[in-house]
Formats: sequence, C-alpha cells, structure tokens
Amino acid sequence: MGAGPAALCIVAELVEQGLTVKALAAHAPNQPWPNTYGIWAEEVESLGMASLLGHRWSNTVSYFGNGVDIEGLAPVQHQFDYGLFDQEALQGALLLRCGDVSWLIETAKKIRFLGSKTEVVCTSGNVYRARVVIDAIGHKSTFIRRPNHGPVAQQAAYGVVGRFTSPPVENGQFVLMDFRPDHLSDSELEEPPSFLYAMDFGKGVFFVEETSLACAPPLSWNNLRRRLYARLSNRGIQVKEVLHEEHCLFPMNLPLPDRNQSLLAFGGSASMVHPASGYMVGALLRRAPTLAKQLAKAIAIEPALDSEALAKKGWQVLWTPELVQRHRLYQFGLERLMSFDESRLRNFFATFFRLPREDWSGFLANTLPLSRLVLVMLRLFAMSNWKVRIGMVLGASKSKDQT
Ligand SMILES: Cc1cc2nc3c(=O)[nH]c(=O)nc-3n(C[C@H](O)[C@H](O)[C@H](O)COP(=O)(O)OP(=O)(O)OC[C@H]3O[C@@H](n4cnc5c(N)ncnc54)[C@H](O)[C@@H]3O)c2cc1C
Repeated sequence: MGAGPAALCIVAELVEQGLTVKALAAHAPNQPWPNTYGIWAEEVESLGMASLLGHRWSNTVSYFGNGVDIEGLAPVQHQFDYGLFDQEALQGALLLRCGDVSWLIETAKKIRFLGSKTEVVCTSGNVYRARVVIDAIGHKSTFIRRPNHGPVAQQAAYGVVGRFTSPPVENGQFVLMDFRPDHLSDSELEEPPSFLYAMDFGKGVFFVEETSLACAPPLSWNNLRRRLYARLSNRGIQVKEVLHEEHCLFPMNLPLPDRNQSLLAFGGSASMVHPASGYMVGALLRRAPTLAKQLAKAIAIEPALDSEALAKKGWQVLWTPELVQRHRLYQFGLERLMSFDESRLRNFFATFFRLPREDWSGFLANTLPLSRLVLVMLRLFAMSNWKVRIGMVLGASKSKDQT
C-alpha cells in the first residue's frame, strides 16, 4: 500500500523476486511526489544510482562557529559530495522496475486479518485480499501498531526556492547546516534552535530552508518563515521571486512498530527515518532487497505460510536486533540533542564533523555496524568539551546548574 519512495522501492524488489504483487495507492504511482530528496553522493554511488541525481555539489559546508563565538569564523568544509535526486528520474526508474504490476487507485480504510490472508477494505467499499500486506503509506499510517512513548519529536522546516537580491549561498555551494544565530534576539536564542539548509540550483535560483532538527511540539512554519526572512535580511538579502515554497513536517523518533503484528510495513510507517538525521531514501534502497528476498524465500520454502507467519519473517529482517540497537542509540542521541541550547548544539556539531569522514558519514547514513557505532559515539564523547559531555550524559536541562 502506498506510492511514495518506500512503496516503489519495495514493489520493485518484490517484482525482482518474481512474486505476485498488487499495489494499492491513493494516487496514481506516477503522480509527482511532493518532496525532493537529498542524499550524500557516496550513498547513491554505492547503490549504482548516481545518474539519478539532478544536482550534485562538491563545495559542501556548514557553519557552527566554535561553539562560543559566532562572528568571522570560517565554515566547516565537508569535502564530501551531496546531491539531490532528480525526483522524476528516481520515480521513473523505480516505476520501470515495478514492471507491469497493476496499480489499484484506492484509499485503504481498514485492515482485517483472516488467518491465511489479509483483507484491505477501501473507502470505495472494495475489498482486496493478499497473503501478506505491506503498509508503505508513510508515517501517518494508523494501521501499524506501535507503542506510545509520549510526544513524538518532529523535524519542521520552511523553505523557498527562488531568486534573491544577492546570492544567499556562494555560487555552486551546498550548505548542510548554517547555525549562525546572529540574527536572533536574546529571547529568540532561548527558543529551540533552527539552522539554514541551503543550496545553489544554478541560473540564479537558490533553495533556502530554515530547519528545526527535532522538537516536540514542532516549531511552527510561521516561526521558521519569520526566522528565515530575519536571517536573510540580517545579511542584506531579500527574496525577489518565490518559485516554490516547501513546508516540511515529519516525525524523527516515531517508536519502532510492534514486530509481532500480521501487517508488515516499510518506509515511514515502519519508523525507518533516521532519528538523528531525518534521512531515509538511502535506507529504503539498501533495505528493500533484503526484505523482498526474505519474503520470497519464506514463500518458496513453506508455500502455506499465513499472513502472521510471513509478516513475522519480514519484521525479523527489517528490524534485526542489531538495527534495533542502533536505532535506540540514535534515539538516545536525538533526545540529548533536543535538550541542547543553540550554543551547545553548535558546539556538538562542530565536534561531530571533526570525526573522520567515514565515521560521520556512516553515522548519518546508518551504515556503521553496531560495535563501530558505539566506538564512534565514545570517540565523539572524548572529543567534546565538558559542557557537551555533561549534556550528553545528563541531558542539558539537568546539567544547566553544573555548567
Ligand atoms: C518535506 C520533506 C522532505 C524530506 N526530505 C528528505 C530528504 O531530503 N532525504 C530523505 O532521505 N528523506 C527526506 N524526508 C523523509 C522521508 O524520506 C520522507 O518522508 C518520505 O517521503 C517517506 O516515504 P514513504 O514512502 O514512507 O511515505 P510517503 O512519501 O508519505 O508516501 C506515502 C504514500 O502512501 C499513499 N497513501 C497514504 N495513505 C494511504 C491510504 N490510506 N491508502 C492508500 N495509499 C495511501 C500516499 O498517497 C503516498 O503515495 C523528507 C520528508 C518530508 C516531509
């Protein structure tokens, strides 16, 4: 179910395995996706999909200051290419791999489990049956059972693709995080921090987006828009023409689904968004083949497996104990970061990007094995100053009095 990146990735792989697949989505699968997806170039290269990038930057930087002062400090040079998928090309390539799967344009309303089969009841009144159903309808899915751990932190962002009175970033540059807060008043500095994510699209067009990493409740788009305009105007930049506005809001630390349910999930509904970075598309492309292979194998060995047993096999490879542990570590890290004020946060990121590149990039892509991830986190701790270390151990709110 679904026609976003998660659905297309998993359908393509199920088809590759020779399984019989029906796809059900609220919209036609070739309807353009509402989001554009960014990714570090090395991740797409390792998947052999670099040709699907619409933009690629080698001049990639961030601004963190030194954690104390903010003026006159050089950016951190990431020396690592970043790209944006050509959305139409990525969607087209995945659809091509989905072959002649039949797409049912329907909205799922209810799921019923009948033992050997699962029924999807749609708003039209139509009912479809399958051996196993995969929910890839995004993080808002109400079909997937997951524990309630209280308020869910969300990444919020407000962005503009447009033309500006002067370039908001250097020509040919990509800015991952500009945390310079010199446009904020003292009272605004007390509020949850946000940063600028920005890039040059060429031909005088730039994308600038004010982003809050994660917050519960999330920062409002109005607030982020105000901050974006204040940031630009502080540097003497006005927006000349708005070509597109982006409103972004998605959960970063959605609890992991209950892995004992007869409905499988993939993508946002399976909590696959990286809790520390917000990225997911690389993970979808890497993890879909394993899930599809596992289902194909299970069906081949035991053709009579019912929905519950098949779903269980799927959950076992989708969220292995190792991946669950890694996810917990990331969630722990995110919780700590959410308690940091802007100066501590800048300090943290300045240290994070001093890690060896394969460590910070592997951390962000979630490709480090658990043992290495733990070592990287310990190394980060050792490299941090005392204020950040105390915040990492106690959470910043508890450590305020001690720093
Ligand atoms: C604005 C924004 C920017 C993002 N940028 C990035 C990025 O740069 N890089 C990155 O890796 N990640 C990014 N993410 C995070 C994540 O990759 C996206 O949220 C991604 O779109 C999730 O994919 P999905 O397929 O799980 O869900 P979705 O993209 O939400 O797709 C859900 C699909 O299910 C369909 N559907 C919904 N309900 C039903 C129903 N009841 N019945 C049938 N069909 C239904 C929808 O029509 C849609 O086709 C971003 C998220 C947002 C919101």
